[in-house]
Amino acid sequence: MAGLTFLYDGAFKNLPHVYGAYSNAFDWVSVGINLNLNKGCDQRCVYCHVPGLVSRAPQAVNVDEVLQELEAALHSLSSSPLRSKFPALASDGISNVAICGDGEPTLCPNIDEMTVGLSDFLRSSRFDISIGPLVMFTNGHFLRKKRVRRALQGMSRTGSQLWVKIDAVSPERQLKVNGFAHPIGRQVDGIVAASEFVDIQIKSCLVSFGAALDAGEAKRLCDVYRELASRCAGTLSVDLYTINRPSRQNADVRPVSQAQLDEIGSMVRALGINVFVSDCGNYYSPNGT
Ligand code: SF4
Repeated sequence: MAGLTFLYDGAFKNLPHVYGAYSNAFDWVSVGINLNLNKGCDQRCVYCHVPGLVSRAPQAVNVDEVLQELEAALHSLSSSPLRSKFPALASDGISNVAICGDGEPTLCPNIDEMTVGLSDFLRSSRFDISIGPLVMFTNGHFLRKKRVRRALQGMSRTGSQLWVKIDAVSPERQLKVNGFAHPIGRQVDGIVAASEFVDIQIKSCLVSFGAALDAGEAKRLCDVYRELASRCAGTLSVDLYTINRPSRQNADVRPVSQAQLDEIGSMVRALGINVFVSDCGNYYSPNGT
């Protein structure tokens, strides 16, 4: 995601699966759950912040260990100096607990046990800080798999959200942006099926390879958003953003302009869809800081 600062110290020190994330664009603090210690993912997005991705699925996680790490982090956050460093923590608490790590989380063989464990933990735990909903951030390629359906069903107990990446629609642009062409119809069907359990937010990272995103691709994206809005069971929103640092995948890629993000945002709004448009182009740093 764009405009994020990752936090691995303080409350998150020595926790392999649990980390903090601060959004510069939206001024919120999230707690992340990383189920991909091996950096396993089936895509190779040009903007991915994870170096050294591999194609193998990760090993199953020890659910109890992850929950113990989460409990330790949440207890620390209740009194951590982070609360003075990030005022959003003191005023709004933790925005969400996000299953989002160094790879694609739905590849985790026991993602279903993990989401059920997390849902139960968040429903029954009491901390001196408010905690938002459980969220999963996915590329959406495996939403019809049985283990992922069970995982989504487990999440539905906590009013959760599924954040699904759709950065490109045409196979040519998918290959360029995501390093992988995935049939968009299959992805849409998976998202519609997932909406039976959770609210959906589509995350579209729009990038430039030297020229503005062409009008045809912008229209194709809007067509996909429109189809999803008409078929999904719960609420659907769209988050448009761009990269905020140079690629760590050795790709010659840049942010799209704020004007283009705003223009596509207006097209989505005209469809009657709730859309968030980041001004994260302002956060782009050539040094990656
Ligand atoms: S899907 Fe996520 S983890 Fe995989 S390459 Fe893209 S940004 Fe990285």
